[in-house]
Amino acid sequence: GFPTASVSRRKLAQCMVRDCMAAREDRENWIPKAVFSSNGQGIALAGQDPAFADAMAAADIIHADGMPVVFASRRTAHPLPERICTTDFFHDAAQAASEHKLRFFILGAKEEQNRAVVEAIRKLYPDVEIVGRHHGYFPPEDDKRVCDLVRASGADVLWVALGKPRQEFWSIRNRENLKGVGWIKTCGGLYSFLTG
Ligand code: UDP
Repeated sequence: GFPTASVSRRKLAQCMVRDCMAAREDRENWIPKAVFSSNGQGIALAGQDPAFADAMAAADIIHADGMPVVFASRRTAHPLPERICTTDFFHDAAQAASEHKLRFFILGAKEEQNRAVVEAIRKLYPDVEIVGRHHGYFPPEDDKRVCDLVRASGADVLWVALGKPRQEFWSIRNRENLKGVGWIKTCGGLYSFLTG
C-alpha cells in the first residue's frame, strides 16, 4: 500500500517544521520533500496508470486521506494510526507555521479563487506569512518561471492544488527546481474548502 505516514496529524505538522528548518540551513542543496495523500481514487488511478504509480512512489511522505485506506493498512505490517485529511492537516500546519514563522506559497486554482484563498488564510491565521501565490492554469513551459517565483519568495511550504494526478506529476517533475523549499504539499480540494 502507498501511505507511509505512520504518524498522527500533529506529528506530521512537527515533521513539516523540522524539514523546513533543515531546508533553511541548506537552501542551496535541499530538495523539497514531496508530501502527498492517498485515497481510494488515487490507489485505483495508480493501478491503471504506471506513470502515476511512479510519481506516488517518488513521494517522501504519503498520508491516508480515507478510512478505507486506514482499514486496509491494518491488515499489513504497517498499520496507520489515523486518517489525515488534507483539509484538517492544513489547520495543524497553519498553527505550526504561526508558531515557527514558516512561510507559505499558495499555488493552484483559478486566479480569482487563488486570491480568495490567500485572503481566507490571512483572516484565519494572521500570523502565517503568505509570501506568494500563483494560479494553477499555466502550461508546462511556465514551470520554470513559476518555480523561480516560489524560490525567490523564500517559501518554506509550497501548497499545490492542480487536481489529481496533475499536482503529483508536477511536484515530482519540479522538485529539483525548488531547492530550499522545505515541503511541497499537494492539496487538491483544499482551496474550495477554505473559500466555500
Ligand atoms: N486545478 C488547477 N489547475 C488545473 C486543474 C485543477 O489549478 O489544471 C485546481 C482546481 O481549480 C481546484 C484544484 O485544482 O482548485 C483541485 O481540483 P479538482 O477538485 O479537480 O481535483 P481533486 O480534488 O480531484 O484532486
